[in-house]
Amino acid sequence: MPTNVTDVDVLVIGGGVNGVGIAMDGAGRGLKVALCEMHDLASATSSNSSKLIHGGLRYLEHYEFALVKKALAEREVLLANAPHIMWPLRFRLPHQGALRPAWMLRLGLYLYDHLAKRSQLPSSHSVRFSTNSPLKSSFTKGFEYSDGWVDDARLVVLCAMAAQQHGAEIKPRTACISAQRTQGVWQVILENADTHTQQHYRAKVLINAAGPWASSVFDKVIEQAAPQQLRLVKGSHIVVPQLHSQPQAYILQHIDHRIVFVIPYEQHFSLIGTTDVDYQGDPAQVAISTDEIDYLCQVANDHFSQQISAKDVVWSYAGVRPLIEAGQAAGQQAQTASRDYRFTVDAPQGGAPLLSVFGGKLTTYRLLSEDAVNAISPYFAHISAPWTKDATLPGGDFSSQPALIAQLRQHYPWLNHSELQRWVRSYGRLCVEFLPKTQHSNHTKPGYQALGEHFGCGLYQAEVDYLMRQEWAYNANDILWRRTKLGLSFNEQQIARLQQYMQAKHTL
Ligand SMILES: Cc1cc2nc3c(=O)[nH]c(=O)nc-3n(C[C@H](O)[C@H](O)[C@H](O)COP(=O)(O)OP(=O)(O)OC[C@H]3O[C@@H](n4cnc5c(N)ncnc54)[C@H](O)[C@@H]3O)c2cc1C
Repeated sequence: MPTNVTDVDVLVIGGGVNGVGIAMDGAGRGLKVALCEMHDLASATSSNSSKLIHGGLRYLEHYEFALVKKALAEREVLLANAPHIMWPLRFRLPHQGALRPAWMLRLGLYLYDHLAKRSQLPSSHSVRFSTNSPLKSSFTKGFEYSDGWVDDARLVVLCAMAAQQHGAEIKPRTACISAQRTQGVWQVILENADTHTQQHYRAKVLINAAGPWASSVFDKVIEQAAPQQLRLVKGSHIVVPQLHSQPQAYILQHIDHRIVFVIPYEQHFSLIGTTDVDYQGDPAQVAISTDEIDYLCQVANDHFSQQISAKDVVWSYAGVRPLIEAGQAAGQQAQTASRDYRFTVDAPQGGAPLLSVFGGKLTTYRLLSEDAVNAISPYFAHISAPWTKDATLPGGDFSSQPALIAQLRQHYPWLNHSELQRWVRSYGRLCVEFLPKTQHSNHTKPGYQALGEHFGCGLYQAEVDYLMRQEWAYNANDILWRRTKLGLSFNEQQIARLQQYMQAKHTL
């Protein structure tokens, strides 16, 4: 038995949205929590989603009323608690009578409007597409409804920060390689991805929140049969120069009865997705195929006047949905498999409990986390009540983005609007952590010098240092594709310089 062992109440495996959500909830309720993530936070499914806080209009077709109701109600809670990284988004649904009749869409949208209480989001209505519509002229009418947008990767980092503020230990780039029950506790071995040094933990409860790896954690780490099989379903997205300049997203129906979103993205782009393809490989190796790119271009081309092809794709990504295997309904199409979550608690007589998460959505991460911590609460006498419903995420304590931008502009009149907007949408109030403390009253932009080296596209040394110090950013990819999306604009030279700077800081 090693001598250097850290004792915790809960050890969480997995730094996706569900793992950090559980760590945040549990730490805030007084538990001593440690979380390990084998790569970067949000490096798997939780940064490769469609980035919607939604009830899931199309799930109504599969009679998933309970899931839709739960997610619709949660939508409002999340939007109120993180105004920096989430905001309302209107969706336009062009009508195609041959695919779904108007009465069916009206009924679906009526349910969508009324299944849960709605205070922030406007209701649905029908629309006529005018001559300035970006759609082909054959689309003359449709519907409009509300859902929400989220920066998925930043949601994960902000939850991890909230967990840390409540005392949790967050360990990215650290894999859980073994977890064994001994004498009423879990003996856990973690291994650092860079140094391969091992650390030993003793945990009262183990949480398996490994997303698409949840079953393989049973096989390889816990060495026990998984209680639930997962159905891994790949979903891919493409990013192209913006197809239109209107603020709405579009939800497009395809002849295969699937739907595809076209979402305004990072000011100058459109995000198009997603696909549903059963997946058997290693989730870490998932990648978009040329068939998927062609499919997504085809669906967009069927609707929009502006035509695109594979050569217009500036970026693409793919993720693996860890869905609950439906048992007797196996063989069903991937797009109809449930997006709901379930967790199992395995607590043999005298043995330490294990809670495992299967399935889920970004939209339901907070509820899932609260439910999970409730489920392990009988094992802790000192645990306090749920708290996250009314808690803002770090940096989110402001009323609206325009109000915060106006406030910051008063203190930092030399800042460009584009940087201010990006920082408010990424960090909210946290951006003052890397802005210079001294104020400048004239407009000659003296403050930019105080931000240090400019790596390109508005990314300054002060922000990079902050991300490395406070947000666990380790390499250029962490910053360019997860803490920000500046990877869309950086060239190879700029990436190399950023990587070189970060590398040098590690060796200081
Ligand atoms: C294409 C697509 C579109 C989606 N769109 C939406 C959407 O618009 N709205 C929505 O609400 N939901 C959406 N989802 C669903 C949502 O993204 C997922 O439900 C959610 O991100 C799952 O989070 P997770 O924490 O369970 O898994 P993950 O984010 O995959 O996290 C699991 C983590 O565990 C780590 N891990 C695994 N094994 C170990 C180990 N041994 N040691 C340490 N770490 C380990 C992995 O590295 C990984 O980071 C979408 C999903 C996909 C794939």
